[in-house]
Amino acid sequence: MPGSSGGQLAIMITRRCNMTCGHCSVESSPSIRGEPSDAELVEWVRAAAAAGVTAIRLTGGEPMLRTATVLRLVRECRRLGIVTGITSNGFWGRTPAQADRHVRALKRAGLSSITLSYDRYHAEFQGPDPVLHITNAAERRQVPLRVSLVRGTDEPELAQVVKRLEALDGPRIRVYDLQPVGRARELPATLHRGEIDGFCSAASFPALTDDGRLVACNGPSYFEKSESPLVLGPVGETPLAELLERHRTDPILDTIRTRGPVALRDELRRTPGFEDFPFRLRYTGICELCHQITRHPQAVAALRERLGQPEAVATRLAVSQVIEGNRRQGMLSTGYVNGVGACRVFLGAAWDPARGLGTDAEHLLGRADVDWRGIGTYLCGSGLARPLLRVVDDPVFARWAPLFFRDELRRRGLADGMRELVQRDVIGRVAGALGELGGRGVLLKGAALLMLTPAGQLPRATSDVDILVDPALAPRLRDRLLEQGFAGAPGAGASTFQHLEPITFQGVAVEIHTRLMPDFWGLPERAMIDDARPLGGSSVLWTLSPEGILLHAGMHTSASFFSFGLKTAWDVLNVLRSSAGVDWDRLAAWALSTGAPRGFWTPMRLLSAELGLPVPSTFLSRAPVGSGARRIETIARHRLFRATEGIFDLDVLTKAGMMLLLQDSLRGRLRYVTAKLLWRGEHLTTWGAAARRARHADVLRQAWRQYRRYRQAMARSMAMPREADQG
Ligand code: SF4
Repeated sequence: MPGSSGGQLAIMITRRCNMTCGHCSVESSPSIRGEPSDAELVEWVRAAAAAGVTAIRLTGGEPMLRTATVLRLVRECRRLGIVTGITSNGFWGRTPAQADRHVRALKRAGLSSITLSYDRYHAEFQGPDPVLHITNAAERRQVPLRVSLVRGTDEPELAQVVKRLEALDGPRIRVYDLQPVGRARELPATLHRGEIDGFCSAASFPALTDDGRLVACNGPSYFEKSESPLVLGPVGETPLAELLERHRTDPILDTIRTRGPVALRDELRRTPGFEDFPFRLRYTGICELCHQITRHPQAVAALRERLGQPEAVATRLAVSQVIEGNRRQGMLSTGYVNGVGACRVFLGAAWDPARGLGTDAEHLLGRADVDWRGIGTYLCGSGLARPLLRVVDDPVFARWAPLFFRDELRRRGLADGMRELVQRDVIGRVAGALGELGGRGVLLKGAALLMLTPAGQLPRATSDVDILVDPALAPRLRDRLLEQGFAGAPGAGASTFQHLEPITFQGVAVEIHTRLMPDFWGLPERAMIDDARPLGGSSVLWTLSPEGILLHAGMHTSASFFSFGLKTAWDVLNVLRSSAGVDWDRLAAWALSTGAPRGFWTPMRLLSAELGLPVPSTFLSRAPVGSGARRIETIARHRLFRATEGIFDLDVLTKAGMMLLLQDSLRGRLRYVTAKLLWRGEHLTTWGAAARRARHADVLRQAWRQYRRYRQAMARSMAMPREADQG
């Protein structure tokens, strides 16, 4: 079903609700009388199955006021091979036990996902506890869950609601614009954002109402008259399959879902006789414009004729085919949107602000399933908040991104700018100390790239200052910096395989390295250091060569277990811009000579392919292939574009498992295990503590949690159907 729901349907099993929210598009309340019988609902579900529907969302009102009916329908759907989800206000999760009982029953019946509506309007009737209880229960029982929020101009309140949900680990927050429909028409006009641009994803998901009509979207078309193109007809008079086909093929609905009501407005303006159609200068929302046009019979007739012309049909078909092609390639999946898709849009915008957000951005950011909170955390953690400040007020950004997301970027961007000043000061002090000691050091990672960023360009934010010095010089440099006001334990030795215990200055940590990375990575460190070059005329500060920086960046991404991959993508772009040229042959030779070539090639290949980095394909084709490489690529693909857990957030077993996968050979694995055992011998205190934790089974429990979280994340991105419910 190109351009349409892809076989999805919402069924409103009641309009009754225990709440009377001020924004409810179908004016639900406890006093609503009349609802379809169980027998009717089962019949609708069977008709939907016969019509090719593959996913049904049970909505209301509040569907869980009919718990037995919900369970019966979910079971029936499972029997028919239909995936089911439910949208609820969560009143049934008042206590953890109650939430768990219901989630367990729903899961047993076959439910695939839960959407909870929670925003300032729902908050007038219940606090966040039920949402938290149900989320925890869903997490335990591995049922994908999301929370949908409705936003108006009162975005600070939205931010407060999001804050209340901060304790939740896992749920994705979806944001829908408040629309002037149903009870929301009574709200002050100033509360509406008044955004009308963009396609309407809600029109891709038809809904069967409680009184048995198929309507174009779930909620906003409920009160439309039977003549409206938004009302397809009663299911009692016309077979559901036929109504769904009308929904799929109607040129007006097809235009709304592919180009939006604004496209209808533009077409109508070009239609003879409608030049003076009374369009307003300002609308309270996209649905108001949609209703104004679709309520006008002559306008509808003229548009049908105009949009039915072969040229217009061909254009829509082309758009539909692109959408369908993207869907087949997984580019319309929630996982893609919140992973690679978001990374592409934001990397492009941060790197080249003059280009803006790009043409793909609107279709991506306009989707309700954008996980703004998750993307915000990822972008800030990748250090891109500051470069993104230049596009944060871009109209496309302002149209779709919630204020809490833009505010977080602003806050982090400004903080990153302040931090950079301190980091530059710290680097200057380190250079001064090195000069006094007659030594030299090689700046590494973010600090090196900060210094290599040309004037006028913004660097990504970095946390520590890493500098590599001769092992004999390292303790002396540390002591000298401590004497000069840096904070840290005097005389402390190595805290990792590769650097001394960090010291800090005004909150910036300095890690003095004695080697680039632990020995078991097998980097050609000697050759890399010999190839280092002085940094802009300095005699004491050096950086690795472009090849050295790229090799180190790739390996380090693997050592960080592929979190914040955008950071590495940015660094690759930075190296390619700031160097006269990369010797790809030398880089390939170095990479292949390491102890774990996969550690370099895996992130480099995936980031280049998915984000379109200008790395030569002839170079990438030299990566070794094999089943081990494919396994680690699967994990890396899942993590690079969205993972925000740092290395310390992963449990010991998960880390060890990934490290062993990264090592290509038995020799490499033995080298890794030996290195760990030797390190253990040297750090009995640390390992004594680890052993105590292991005795309490913490490590195993953590590993199990980690494993479940990955499985859930994968299930969530694969199983969650796209939704268009308006909260
Ligand atoms: S614009 Fe509003 S009323 Fe029109 S189809 Fe979309 S959700 Fe429904």
